[in-house]
Amino acid sequence: MQAILRLDLAGQPRGWLTLQETISAYARGDVIYGIGDPLPPVYGGIQRLTGHRSTLVVQPIIATEGKIYDAFVPPLCNRTLFKRDDHRCLYCGNQTSRHQLTRDHVLPASRGGTNKWENVVAACKRCNWQKDNKTPEEAGMPLLAVPFRPNPFEWHFLAKDRVLADQMEYLSKRFKADRDWAH
Ligand SMILES: [Zn+2]
Repeated sequence: MQAILRLDLAGQPRGWLTLQETISAYARGDVIYGIGDPLPPVYGGIQRLTGHRSTLVVQPIIATEGKIYDAFVPPLCNRTLFKRDDHRCLYCGNQTSRHQLTRDHVLPASRGGTNKWENVVAACKRCNWQKDNKTPEEAGMPLLAVPFRPNPFEWHFLAKDRVLADQMEYLSKRFKADRDWAH
C-alpha cells in the first residue's frame, strides 16, 4: 500500500505513515498542510442526516503538529546502505544484486571501526574477503566513493521502495549525495 510522507512543521521528513495512520492524523486535526496531488478518495462512514458518504482527501505528503525532535538519526540497515551505494561494490565498482553484497567496515570493527554510516560501504563478497582485516590503504583497495550519512531527505527516499512523483520531487530537492540515484 502507498505510504504517506510525514513532515514536521519545519518541512523536515519525519517518517512514512500508512494510509490508516494518515486518516487518524486527519481525524485528530493534526494535519497542518498537505503537498501534492490528492490520492484517490478514501470513503468514510455514511452520514445519518444527509445519507451522504463522507470522503477524505489525502495528499501524498502531510505536515503534522507534534514534537519536533532535535536531530534525525537515520537508522542503518543493509537494504538502505546498499541503495545508498547504488548496489555497487565500492572497491571494484561492480554493480550487483542486494544478495551478493555485504556490509564492509572501512576501518575494520576488530580495530575499533564503528558501525556508522560514515564507516560502512557496500562491498561484493570477493572484495570483502580480500580486504579482510585491513584498511583500504593497507589492502591497496582505494574506495571509489566516500561513505556518508544520508540526510533526512535522502534517507526517507532510500528507505522506501515505492515513492510517488510528488514525494520524490519534494525529497530530491534536498539531495546532496554524489551517487547515481541522487542525480
Ligand atoms: Zn568488489
